[in-house]
Amino acid sequence: MSSIIDGKAVSLAVKEELKARISELAGEGKRIPCLAVIIVGDNPASRSYVRGKIKAAEFVGIDSRLIELPENVQEEVLLGKIAALNADPLVDGILVQLPLPAHICEDRVIDAISVEKDVDGFHPQNVAALWLGRPCIVPCTPKGIIHLIRSTGVEVSGRKAVVVGRSNIVGKPVAKLLLDLNATVTIAHSRTRDLAALTREADILVAAVGRPRMITGDMVKPGAVVIDVGINRTEDGHLVGDVDFESASAVAGWITPVPGGVGPMTIAMLMRNTLEAYKARTL
Ligand code: NDP
Repeated sequence: MSSIIDGKAVSLAVKEELKARISELAGEGKRIPCLAVIIVGDNPASRSYVRGKIKAAEFVGIDSRLIELPENVQEEVLLGKIAALNADPLVDGILVQLPLPAHICEDRVIDAISVEKDVDGFHPQNVAALWLGRPCIVPCTPKGIIHLIRSTGVEVSGRKAVVVGRSNIVGKPVAKLLLDLNATVTIAHSRTRDLAALTREADILVAAVGRPRMITGDMVKPGAVVIDVGINRTEDGHLVGDVDFESASAVAGWITPVPGGVGPMTIAMLMRNTLEAYKARTL
């Protein structure tokens, strides 16, 4: 039976630490970091993610501004809001909740966010800097995944890591971060042949696919660290990951649950990125 990596507890520790650092700033009479969140439309999942982010900001003591725009907002209006936030010296981080309605070009929106305030780490300049090993804002979910892996104390250097999924927001950046920790990394995707043979070799297995319970226990190497990024809602309304927790936890050494694994870490890392963006701008 594996040990559970408790993302709730680890993320709470991160937030407590941030809270202490922000309270120190306040005590020194300094300005408090500020995160601006833009949400377009009424997508319930997006609304719930945004609520979680604003709540976490309140918890750690980061000021937040919520900008709510209607589903049919013109792209130009959204770009205008971003330009105003870029120019606002009191705003340290800007996050536009994705996905956006189909009539808005996501790439144009991401490109419009100032690189220094891009706390999601999605701007092409931040992405390029990540791959070049230069200072950058690291995207929240991959950053949280690495934090969780490190929390186990398991050695990453020289070990085999398999990342299932190659998205720009999770799969690719987490693979790069594992490479930075000297893992030998393989990225699998929908065209990978014999996925199970590959995953069975992984000392560290990250599943970021979006397919409920597709990684089963027989695909896991005994003792492996298994990180489940997936958030999938089943027909009966339950949240499940990309990993079949029951069978995988019987084989893995360490495993994250869903919910309560990667999800809370993503939000904690957003708070950390906001503080880091603040520091880069003000200190
Ligand atoms: P995407 O849909 O962008 O990417 C999914 C990836 O999985 C693709 O690279 C796809 O391959 C690959 N894939 C699909 N089917 C298979 C298969 N049968 N075998 C192997 N690979 C396959 O998803 P995201 O990366 O955005 O998200 C992945 C999951 O993580 C989702 O459930 C999402 O909700 C969740 N998520 C959770 C976050 C959190 O904070 N916990 C944050 C972000 C995402 P191909 O490229 O070939 O199509």
